[in-house]
Amino acid sequence: MSFPPSEYEMSVNYRLDRINDQIYRLAHFGRYKSELYGKAYPLNSIELLAELPFTAADDISLYGQDMLCVSPREVKRIVTIPTSGTSGISKRIYFTDGDLSRTVSFFAEGMEYICAKGETVAVFMPCDSEYGVGRLLCEGLTRLGAVPKPFGAVNDYPKAADFCRSALPDAAVGIPSQMRRLSMLAPEIGLKRVLLSADYVSEAVCQTLNRYWGSEVFSHYGLTETGYGCAVECPAHMGMHIRSDELYIEIVNPTTGQILPSGHWGEIVITTLLREAMPFIRYRTGDIGRLLPPPCGCGLNVPRLDRVRGRISELSRSPGIYELDELLLSCDAVEDYTASVEDGIYHISVVGDTKSVFNLLSRKYPDLRFEVSSGQGFVSTGTTKRQITYKTSC
Ligand SMILES: [Zn+2]
Repeated sequence: MSFPPSEYEMSVNYRLDRINDQIYRLAHFGRYKSELYGKAYPLNSIELLAELPFTAADDISLYGQDMLCVSPREVKRIVTIPTSGTSGISKRIYFTDGDLSRTVSFFAEGMEYICAKGETVAVFMPCDSEYGVGRLLCEGLTRLGAVPKPFGAVNDYPKAADFCRSALPDAAVGIPSQMRRLSMLAPEIGLKRVLLSADYVSEAVCQTLNRYWGSEVFSHYGLTETGYGCAVECPAHMGMHIRSDELYIEIVNPTTGQILPSGHWGEIVITTLLREAMPFIRYRTGDIGRLLPPPCGCGLNVPRLDRVRGRISELSRSPGIYELDELLLSCDAVEDYTASVEDGIYHISVVGDTKSVFNLLSRKYPDLRFEVSSGQGFVSTGTTKRQITYKTSC
């Protein structure tokens, strides 16, 4: 692995060779669809990948253990996450030492955009578990020569502000809505750069961080299934560089499954290229995204993803969380909010000024049926993304 990626790492041959390695692993060391993958191996062209079936969130929930391609003693970390599928069963994602080590390398490389050697970086990502995303990020920062200051996901804002006043970080990594709220509570902290991760990044959040902290804001997209890291924005701010040595991304029509050309919005589908414990072939993330044509403004010819725009499941529902974030988080009188929909009525629980939310919603969505109340807001642990809860009364 190298950074920037070598020509070979960005070539079709590299992707095809690595995809074939992953298919071989599943065919010979796993039990999940091993016969199908055995027959498919080797693919003679990358186009043939489109003939292989998708892997859904439910497949991981139901057959995750069968996807394991190493012995249990080689598994270094297992992450259990609530499913985005329909089975209601949690997903368990397995990683080896090698899998985790490559994530640390990606973090070390990606963080070069956010901080320089010797700079202090506050880490507002979950830091509780030994091989969790926050700890791996701290390891990557240390490898880069920066000084990580782990805090964890923010549930106590005054405490997080005091932490910054004492640690005096140059930069921070955190969850978008949490960093926004912290910047409004403690504007005097001022951070040169902020990397937003673990959730959708709305323009409203970026602008607030820029206004309150004067920060240059970067986005990162990742999910546990991608080994946390997937794509990170560079200083040209023209999309996120994909971790192309490790992941191959297709954008597909969420209804037909057909591959969409660069520039078209659709569902992000991921195939891992180097995963040891749990390779994924064509994993449907459920996230809305699009590929951007090369080159990037920074001069690199790397594949890039545009900012992710919420969940496929919300496409038929308007407004979705992404649209609500853009509207409500652009208002400084709103610290945070949660949203649920029951029988077609939006219930918005607001930390901050309810009247402002009422006015914003009335103006933007005159036909929307909604209620606004005061609430405690969203407590994110950084393991699940913001979403609207849909309920039906019986
Ligand atoms: Zn770039």
